[in-house]
Amino acid sequence: MILILSPNIDPEGDRYQQLMAHLSRLQDIAVRVHREVGTEQTLTEIYLVGNTSSISVDDMKGLPGVERVVRVSEECRVVGRHRDDHRPSHFDYKGLRFGQDTLHVFAGLCAVDTKEHVEAMMRALRDNGQICTRMGAYKPRTSPYSFQGHGKECLPYVFELAGKYGIKVIAMEVTHESHIDEIHEALQAAGGPTGAMLQIGTRNTQNFELLKIVGRQQDYPVLLKRGFGITFSESLHAAEYLASEGNHKIIFGLRGIKTNIGDPHRNFLDFAHVPVVRRLTRLPVCIDPSHAVGLRTSGAEGILDIMHATAQGVIAGANMVLVDFHPAPNRALVDGPQALLLEELPHFLEDIQIAREAYEKRVALATRSRTEGA
Ligand code: PEP
Ligand code: MN
Repeated sequence: MILILSPNIDPEGDRYQQLMAHLSRLQDIAVRVHREVGTEQTLTEIYLVGNTSSISVDDMKGLPGVERVVRVSEECRVVGRHRDDHRPSHFDYKGLRFGQDTLHVFAGLCAVDTKEHVEAMMRALRDNGQICTRMGAYKPRTSPYSFQGHGKECLPYVFELAGKYGIKVIAMEVTHESHIDEIHEALQAAGGPTGAMLQIGTRNTQNFELLKIVGRQQDYPVLLKRGFGITFSESLHAAEYLASEGNHKIIFGLRGIKTNIGDPHRNFLDFAHVPVVRRLTRLPVCIDPSHAVGLRTSGAEGILDIMHATAQGVIAGANMVLVDFHPAPNRALVDGPQALLLEELPHFLEDIQIAREAYEKRVALATRSRTEGA
């Protein structure tokens, strides 16, 4: 059960103290408080964990400071959408809104290799009006002999160049808890020129200890990729691990799943699940067409499969596109074959715009049909 308190309620005030005193007397119920500090107001939610079936919603509504009560039946208490649940499906970070109603493109390097390539990438982004990117410093590789990423060594120039080119948020994978501190320290040392979104890759979707640690910090939002070899519901539970530790700034990423039925693509495209994630959870949804498709093949009309895949996700309501680009894919140390070229960036962005407009028209059409049918 979730109690949503009046906005800006004072934790030192009488109403809050009386409420907490009452809740502490409930038998066998654990009380967890989550506070979300926004630009305009602070929202406080209280999670009652345990057998809440005998607690009446009306009783809870009558307690001091309680504005609304949501009875949660499903497992994913925090990230799930529940009946009469009007909790927000967006968050703000670095002045940007990430929600089920917005769309951001994170084009960039799968792996940082040279400072020159980082600069060329960021310059192209700036020239094309982009303020987000992806930059891999820590790479989870199948083989221990493959390039593992430059790690913290590259962070100073990545962050400095981001500041120089007006990049506000960088999606960056972390594979170990120490990486969070390294990113934090490097950002502070650089004077905070940009922001970071911590990415949990598909290989770590069920690394529960990492999820708990990333979920416990609230400095950085998290992009959680769906596990490529586990069930959909198991991946949603991974998101719940992050949220139950306190971090609600989560984006759920679809990146294809592992099965040879997906051949000749690298993974089997799962972007038909974009609306499913949006229905079952309050999380914005990211699509990663690069890791889903994995190569630069194109359809008979000359459109790259990666662009087709992107359009499929965006037309279905995706809120973020994470995509690999590289100034010289043949010299990339990771995933060169799936990287788009910098000169393809304007085309890619325009194609996304077409798909987004089509999505918006589809929403308007569905709304009209519903009202006319009502
Ligand atoms: C990546 O985005 O660089 C990556 C390794 O993705 P995934 O975890 O989806 O394989
Ligand atoms: Mn990659």
